[in-house]
Amino acid sequence: MNRRDALKAFAGLALCPLCQPAFAAEGAHWSYEGATGPAKWGDVDAASKVCTIGLQQSPIDIVAPIKSQLPPLKISWPKTADTIVNNGHTIQLNFAPGGTLSVGDKKFNLLQVHFHRPSEHMIAGKSFPMEAHFVHRADSGALAVVGVLMSTGKPNAAFAKVVATMPAKEGPPVKADPGFNPNDMLPRKLTYYRYPGSLTTPPCAETVEWLLLTNAITVAEADVAAFGKLYPVNARPVQRDNRRYVLVSG
Ligand SMILES: [Zn+2]
Repeated sequence: MNRRDALKAFAGLALCPLCQPAFAAEGAHWSYEGATGPAKWGDVDAASKVCTIGLQQSPIDIVAPIKSQLPPLKISWPKTADTIVNNGHTIQLNFAPGGTLSVGDKKFNLLQVHFHRPSEHMIAGKSFPMEAHFVHRADSGALAVVGVLMSTGKPNAAFAKVVATMPAKEGPPVKADPGFNPNDMLPRKLTYYRYPGSLTTPPCAETVEWLLLTNAITVAEADVAAFGKLYPVNARPVQRDNRRYVLVSG
């Protein structure tokens, strides 16, 4: 870098304290409690302001859904995940390209699944032991998240595999166990609630079509407890619905 460019770079830093380099975004500090907890997420960085001032935030308590003719969810996921990571906020499995979700004429690509304890969404004031989020993205950048509520009861083979292989400490992604099949985490009937919302972590972008399945799956209580040893609470509290309509299929 010549002197002039160096000066320009320096001036840029000085004039734009909120313009963080891309690599710093990952390290933006937020948590689920205390001084960097959900009530303060709007202060994490400029892009996260919407966490506090947004009007379409997630999760919500689904109280009076409206029965509607919604297109069926057409899910075509791979039978394995690519990598698994403990990212300091949750356990996440990333997928190789190829998995898709179609809703009516909209098509999305499966990116990753991660887990919250307890559930983030509530149904008529009731929360669940956990919730899985299958994150999809359209070529336009729009996101669709299929949420799966998790009750305790009969073990779920796929979630048991996650728990058995999840890295105990935060770190880089490692190869996922080929025995993890995301399709095994779906209930038999794919009826769903639909509403417009946001990411439930900073930057809380309001670009998410929420597709929360109405039927919970069951997982072993011991597996929820094992996840809880790593992440006792990693769920954002429910947000104001601001008169958004929640539709329900089936
Ligand atoms: Zn999530």
